[in-house]
Amino acid sequence: MKCWQCETEARGVCRFCGRAVCKPHAQTMNYIVSVYPSQSKKVLKSLVVADAVFCGNCKPQPEPLETPYLD
Ligand SMILES: [Zn+2]
Ligand SMILES: [Zn+2]
Repeated sequence: MKCWQCETEARGVCRFCGRAVCKPHAQTMNYIVSVYPSQSKKVLKSLVVADAVFCGNCKPQPEPLETPYLD
């Protein structure tokens, strides 16, 4: 597979959108595996994978989005 941006051989795949990226174009971002309410505080805790591969092109949203069209 080739890099989404520069067409050289890709070294990884974006965890968020699936685009392939080469090493110079790869970025990293925390990938949230799941979110759950904390017992003690009114704060949401999340299981996070640090430094997941990120293509730099897609836009992972910080909040879950409403999807009324899936009804
Ligand atoms: Zn590239
Ligand atoms: Zn991506």
